[in-house]
Amino acid sequence: MGSVKQPCSIAIIGAGIGGIALAIGLLKQDVECTIYEAATKFDAVGAGIGLGPNALKAMELMDEKFAKLYDEIKVGNTSPERVHEQIEILGAEEGFGITDGWKGGSVGHPKFTRSSAHRKALLEVMKSLIPEGTVKFNKRVLSVDQSSERHVLLKFEDGESVSVDAVVGCDGIKGVSRRWVLEQRFPEEVPAKYCNEYVYRGMTSMENAKNIIGTYAEDARWFMKDSAGWAMYPISGGTEVNIVAFIQDEQPWKGEQAVREVTREDMELEFEGFDHRLRGLLQVSSRHCCKCD
Ligand SMILES: Cc1cc2nc3c(=O)[nH]c(=O)nc-3n(C[C@H](O)[C@H](O)[C@H](O)COP(=O)(O)OP(=O)(O)OC[C@H]3O[C@@H](n4cnc5c(N)ncnc54)[C@H](O)[C@@H]3O)c2cc1C
Repeated sequence: MGSVKQPCSIAIIGAGIGGIALAIGLLKQDVECTIYEAATKFDAVGAGIGLGPNALKAMELMDEKFAKLYDEIKVGNTSPERVHEQIEILGAEEGFGITDGWKGGSVGHPKFTRSSAHRKALLEVMKSLIPEGTVKFNKRVLSVDQSSERHVLLKFEDGESVSVDAVVGCDGIKGVSRRWVLEQRFPEEVPAKYCNEYVYRGMTSMENAKNIIGTYAEDARWFMKDSAGWAMYPISGGTEVNIVAFIQDEQPWKGEQAVREVTREDMELEFEGFDHRLRGLLQVSSRHCCKCD
């Protein structure tokens, strides 16, 4: 007599890249799941995302359709000789180090093809691969109780609860599931830690960027300096450039662990000693300057 397949209920906490990717993979294997998300709607924080070989391989394994749709939104390096290059490394000081004899370093592999995308575009692709209703919004998980042998009980802020067979925490670095996983053995690891580095993120049009920094804007580049770095790469079909500048910080993070707005003047002070073309890009990049840990 054939056995009757019992449905298995899986709850995913968090509808970020991790949670949605997991749902895509599970649904492809015909495993039903529900994502519980604290926010009221989908949100993509930040502008660009560059995907490494591990992420590209995972995408293909999860669902070939995912990889195909990503192909439609991705953008690579413009220079044909840099197609397989993850990033070219230059100096951030005036002259990019080239004037001091540095010829530039390169990270890449012939089997890897560089690609990046706008986070919003990636989110749209990922959303399209999960049926409507998979994500329940406004569902902040307050507790996970695994005291029953067969089920896990999730309690939400709105007073509701669900009992499921398995829970996967994809609620990010500040999420609650860290506590249930780490509290017993590594309690000191429960709160997210400041890594003594913060970033400024911005975006500008390729046209603006090329007017300021020329063809350097067309490929992924990393400008390095003592205790600071500047990464930039094309996104949005090559019409925009994503900028992430990293600053090392000896001081502890003060106040709330959240994105912090700073004035343009304060931000510009941080980039003294950078090549004038990079500082020029600060003038044309998106209006909001943020420090985030
Ligand atoms: C500046 C910067 C640049 C980066 N660039 C790259 C890059 O180029 N390439 C790359 O691969 N990675 C990059 N990363 C890393 C990448 O963005 C993250 O690893 C990734 O977004 C993490 O996704 P996640 O789904 O795990 O978590 P998150 O995106 O943090 O999502 C967690 C979700 O869980 C929800 N949530 C939290 N708590 C609860 C709760 N109690 N109940 C219900 N829902 C909850 C949140 O609302 C959120 O939607 C970058 C990160 C930063 C900061």
